[in-house]
Amino acid sequence: MTVLSPFSAGPVRAVLVVHGGAGTILRKHLTARLEAEYLAALEASLRAGYNALQSSPGTAMDGVEAAVRFLEDCPLFNSGRGSVFTHDGRIEMDAAVMDGETGRAGAVTGVTTVRNPVTLARAVLEQSPFVMLAGRGAEEFATFAGTERAAPEYFRTEERWNQLQNQLRRESEESAPLMSLSEDNKFGTVGAVAVDARGTVAAATSTGGMTNKRYGRIGDSPVIGAGTWAENATCAVSATGHGEFFIRHAAAHDIAARMAYGGRTVAEAAHEVIQDKLRAAGGEGGVIAIDAQGNAVLPFNTAGMYRGYITHDGIPFVSIYPD
Ligand code: ASP
Repeated sequence: MTVLSPFSAGPVRAVLVVHGGAGTILRKHLTARLEAEYLAALEASLRAGYNALQSSPGTAMDGVEAAVRFLEDCPLFNSGRGSVFTHDGRIEMDAAVMDGETGRAGAVTGVTTVRNPVTLARAVLEQSPFVMLAGRGAEEFATFAGTERAAPEYFRTEERWNQLQNQLRRESEESAPLMSLSEDNKFGTVGAVAVDARGTVAAATSTGGMTNKRYGRIGDSPVIGAGTWAENATCAVSATGHGEFFIRHAAAHDIAARMAYGGRTVAEAAHEVIQDKLRAAGGEGGVIAIDAQGNAVLPFNTAGMYRGYITHDGIPFVSIYPD
């Protein structure tokens, strides 16, 4: 299975790449209509990010935030509205952003009333001396920062509720190990990486986590170096997949480290981590990664990954299955 899809933007710099989650996405699971809806949503998120990159000041951070906000508002994806449910029927969302020029990062975990967690993560980066805020404290900070809120009901969708009920049923039938996570291995986290006209990279990731999570479980998405990373000298990365593996292997930072210390290209480094290291460990998922020259790659070791990119011509390319 060929899963590496590198491309280069050449001398033109502003490039944006998005993902909407990796997992067991099989053609037989998606109706033609649903597939078209996913592709249209990915395209619209790329356009939203591209417009932000084209407007002044047009920073990479503006681009990734705009793209991820669009996906958070779209109920098809596991972030913001449409997030998956915890074991006890709640929605607890995580998000992170990182700026490749300054190395500054912002992250929030377990938020329940923040309409766009990615925007709160950016506020942590820009308006606080901290990197990661959790739960009640993060919500208090949202009040301080004036971040838009929504009632917990806003985030709930029937499809995600049914996924939790299926998982709970499996647990009670003892066909699944206790404390199992998402039964169908469709992850659905969203993320974006971009390079702007100044050659600065940024990354953003946002998620509801994994269905049936409990005890305040936090995945890789808001963990800097695991699911999110940005550094101008190497690359920006946003991950999706089974978060425990991405945390254990510091996956996003490992891609950057292979470039910095091993002289790998972004395509080689991302391929090694996703196809060799994580695959061997049993860690399912994928990443989007971009360097400051606009070379980008979208590898995944699952059956599919919702993904797309847009370069200088403003024409979005989107896909789900391996090329
Ligand atoms: N990586 C996310 C987590 O483990 C899940 C996903 O990618 O959908 O929380």
